[in-house]
Amino acid sequence: MRKKIVAGNWKMHGSPESVTSLCEGLVNGVNASAPECALIVFPPFVYLSQVQAALAGAQVHLGAQNVSQFDEGAYTGEISINMLKASGCEYVLIGHSERRHVFGETLETVVAKFKQAKQMGLTPILCVGETLEEREADKTSTVLAAQLQSVCEALPGDTTVFDGAVIAYEPVWAIGTGKSATPEQAQAVHAQIRQFLTEIGQINANSVSVLYGGSVKSDNAAQLFEQPDIDGALVGGASLDADQFMRIASCNKSS
Ligand code: PEP
Repeated sequence: MRKKIVAGNWKMHGSPESVTSLCEGLVNGVNASAPECALIVFPPFVYLSQVQAALAGAQVHLGAQNVSQFDEGAYTGEISINMLKASGCEYVLIGHSERRHVFGETLETVVAKFKQAKQMGLTPILCVGETLEEREADKTSTVLAAQLQSVCEALPGDTTVFDGAVIAYEPVWAIGTGKSATPEQAQAVHAQIRQFLTEIGQINANSVSVLYGGSVKSDNAAQLFEQPDIDGALVGGASLDADQFMRIASCNKSS
């Protein structure tokens, strides 16, 4: 059975004080009514230890927004997988569109990071998605296929590349714009992702959790989660409000 997940990407937001109150809101929310799905939060690196302590004992998992593709060494400004694990992280976002488009992360870098996370025991959430120009040029499936294929090519012959990993379909035009994909648009792409994983020989394609991301709010989450191939959401802006994040999570039922 595929894991249901609602994950919150806090991006570069927060202060020690706002992080404390956000965590209090999450703990209170989980204690009042535990959601049926797994909850994950992705704070900025500097708040990981604070969040780990604040969420201790609560059913909320911790992840990082990015990671180095290197183990350790002279890589100024980078954070390794082992450092993330030591800070309590179980998950890491790989290839978020802001990393690809604002910071110029290439397919090669994204693939190296995915491989590193997988091999060193941190669950990668691979973010994929097309730009508006690519969608309008009818290139959505080609772009997504290239993003997924490149990861498989880095692990040749492995038919279980995505086992234990998570994929987040995040159309670039829907991130932070308030313009979510419709449930039908998102469902069509999620089904294509699964189909593509099968075609490239991933034997457990039907067991991979595929999340939707892009302007998910408490008022559109339920319709998205009703779709058969949408297993949850990666939420940006709305995850900074504990009540709204918990309302989104409450829509993601286990069956
Ligand atoms: C994101 O940052 O991954 C995201 C989906 O952002 P938002 O929900 O704000 O569109």
